[in-house]
Amino acid sequence: MSAASDPSQPPILILAGTREARALAAHLSQMGQPVLASLAGVTRDPAPYPCPVRSGGFGGVHGLAAWLQAHRPPALIDATHPFARQMQLNAAAAAAQTGTPRLRLLRPPWPTRQGWQLVPDLAAAAAALPPGARVLLTTGGKEVAAFAQRPDCHFVLRVIEPVADLPPHIQTHLTRPPFSLADEIALLRDQRITHLITKNAGGSGTAKLDAAEHLGLPVIVVDRPPVPPGPLAQDPQTAVDWLATLKIGAN
Ligand code: NAP
Repeated sequence: MSAASDPSQPPILILAGTREARALAAHLSQMGQPVLASLAGVTRDPAPYPCPVRSGGFGGVHGLAAWLQAHRPPALIDATHPFARQMQLNAAAAAAQTGTPRLRLLRPPWPTRQGWQLVPDLAAAAAALPPGARVLLTTGGKEVAAFAQRPDCHFVLRVIEPVADLPPHIQTHLTRPPFSLADEIALLRDQRITHLITKNAGGSGTAKLDAAEHLGLPVIVVDRPPVPPGPLAQDPQTAVDWLATLKIGAN
């Protein structure tokens, strides 16, 4: 790929919402490759992108396939979060329908640590708690239904934005990463946390895992959803290399 790419070619579509998506968008933009980042539009104040951004759902597989037909991006990079279960399926199906080259950019999961309890989903995580547990929940504000069913436990739900209509046993803790080990230990101690529930998101946010380990707290880790078959990159540079094999932007 070269910085002399034709600016009139349609942009690569990056399904975004992650640090990796931003890094890839920055890298490709610097190379002169037109890029369009797509956000779900659910975050009120998303981190800025170094490229044009569109926002909002496409309308399922059908809507995304229609969008791809209309805009003809030379490639689609699905750089959504490892737990964006629906979007990665939609991306795979719509790309296959339209013959659009697609790559899943997915950071590696955290290696399993001693003492972790691995569970397949949030319902299993909620079911694994003993009565009376005080839980730090870092699984996001959208999916609290399973924990609402456990009024015998107390939950500290760490989120960036407020969550409406929570039952009294789920209390939000509004804050933004990054968090240091000292921050995490202080939070676990101040809130008298007995259990941590997290998704295996991977990436740099491991201080909570280190803090729980330091305090000897049980950690319940929700496993990732299955990844649709197809090419996979674990970091932005590998995605750039994959694009080069398609000769996108090459002279
Ligand atoms: P999801 O359940 O897989 O997707 C739900 C719907 O949101 C999709 O069907 C799609 O709507 C729309 N959508 C999702 N990502 C989109 C994107 N990048 N551009 C346009 N539309 C998108 O996803 P989610 O778990 O709600 O996550 C939403 C966004 O937040 C994702 O982009 C993800 O990268 C980011 N995120 C998620 C998590 C998490 O834990 N799930 C954590 C951090 C960031 P249509 O069907 O109408 O196209």
